[in-house]
Amino acid sequence: MAKSRRSTIEMDKEEFRKIGYQLIDDISNFIESIDQKPVTPNESPSQLQELLENTSLPENGRPAAELISKTTDLLFNHSLLNGHPKFMGYITSSAAPIGALADLLAASVNPNVGAQILSPIATQIEKQTIKWLCDFIGVPSDYGGILVSGGNMANFTAFLAARTAKAPQNIKEDGIQNTSKKLTVYCSKTTHTWIEKAVVLFGLGTKSVRWIPTDASNKMETKLLANTIKKDLENGYLPLMVVGTAGDVSTGVVDNLSDISDICKTYGLWFHIDGAYGVPAAIVPKLKHLFAGIKDADSIALDPHKWLYSPLEAGCTLVKNPQHLIDTFSSHPEYYNFSKSGQDKAQNFYEYGLQNSRGFRALKVWLALQQVGRSGYEKLISEDIELSEMLYDLADQHPELEAVSQNLSITTFRYVPLENIDDKEYLNTLNEAILNELQTGGEVFLSNAIVNGQYSLRACIVNFRTSKKDIQAIIEIIIRTGRKVHLKIYQERAQ
Ligand SMILES: *Cc1c(COP(=O)(O)O)cnc(C)c1O
Repeated sequence: MAKSRRSTIEMDKEEFRKIGYQLIDDISNFIESIDQKPVTPNESPSQLQELLENTSLPENGRPAAELISKTTDLLFNHSLLNGHPKFMGYITSSAAPIGALADLLAASVNPNVGAQILSPIATQIEKQTIKWLCDFIGVPSDYGGILVSGGNMANFTAFLAARTAKAPQNIKEDGIQNTSKKLTVYCSKTTHTWIEKAVVLFGLGTKSVRWIPTDASNKMETKLLANTIKKDLENGYLPLMVVGTAGDVSTGVVDNLSDISDICKTYGLWFHIDGAYGVPAAIVPKLKHLFAGIKDADSIALDPHKWLYSPLEAGCTLVKNPQHLIDTFSSHPEYYNFSKSGQDKAQNFYEYGLQNSRGFRALKVWLALQQVGRSGYEKLISEDIELSEMLYDLADQHPELEAVSQNLSITTFRYVPLENIDDKEYLNTLNEAILNELQTGGEVFLSNAIVNGQYSLRACIVNFRTSKKDIQAIIEIIIRTGRKVHLKIYQERAQ
């Protein structure tokens, strides 16, 4: 190709090839040896800042090869590696390598998946991805939806659709302040923090949330839910929606979705399921019963960047009647010539969510779904759950560990020194200190959960690299760390 303009930002074919091949070689080695590295380097923000040499905005350019090579080192050696087999903190998964290739490919073509005309094949791929995700979790494929950046955005998108559907019709023109009745939403106290952001951002206010208590197993008390709705109606409130959680972030428990669905039907409320983490487990036949009621959901949030192993970022909102998304998000400015497409109607994703220009995040999800297949995902997810159960059993059997809870692929447990079994306050302090030691030690990465007032260690396995050997090793690491931290606290207190 003869170039008439010499742009400094352009790369010629030979340069791109050379840098690209080197990068692919380096990434292959990184993936191959990821288990040999510490899970986290444990460097302070100021140490890391120093690595960047604290220079000001470069005045002149530098060769791309040198930049990519230096940056490869920087990232490989100074990152927390959530692709490490002993990473099981929060709900952050290891990323499928095909996702890395997909992101490279997507960025190279760079379709803007806001409008059909700007992203002809990419829009069709996103539509197919959404149909497949419906199939994956077992809802009819006439649900529609959109890919978003993650669980928070997926829940926000659904929340706004619910608001449009269930608030008085004039809300779009008159706004929240002119509704005569106060809008309310219902969820259990295990609901992820997105709900607090949503009610602040979308005008309902934090007092609009009815936090329904949970039972001993952490599930929403649905009798209390029904009573609360009834009382609110009597007192002149306008209930909008109920959020059921399918896999709560602390313990992985799934609410009783069919009870919640029945209550929503009785009172004409929007039924939303936050399945950001857990809903992909509906693909496992023996777990189907946990998700009974899912087909009645008006909307569902799920995160391909969690249990489907997409690299960040990929979330998804599914809506039973996608017209609610269009009613919420569509507008037709004069400068968009997007609606007039030949034979069939164009689907323009900017009308389905908050974003206007949109990246091609569907590609990495779509490719992984094909690389692994339905049966492959069923196996991957089942194995994660088995490993989590194994961890629970080993903790249960060990005299210095106490198994606390196990749901889906989340296990919580505690270190309990033989002589302090009944000192509740000390056990909380000790386990918090152990967690801090583990999170900086680089051998294993866990997070924490407070379960029935007990500070617990928490392992969430959304990691296709974790094996039984890792689970056994983790027990050994925790016992060793637990004894060390316990002794240290005792010595400090004795002084
Ligand atoms: C992870 C999670 C979220 C938030 O998702 P992000 O992708 O982090 O924005 C919300 N709800 C539940 C149940 C989750 O597990």
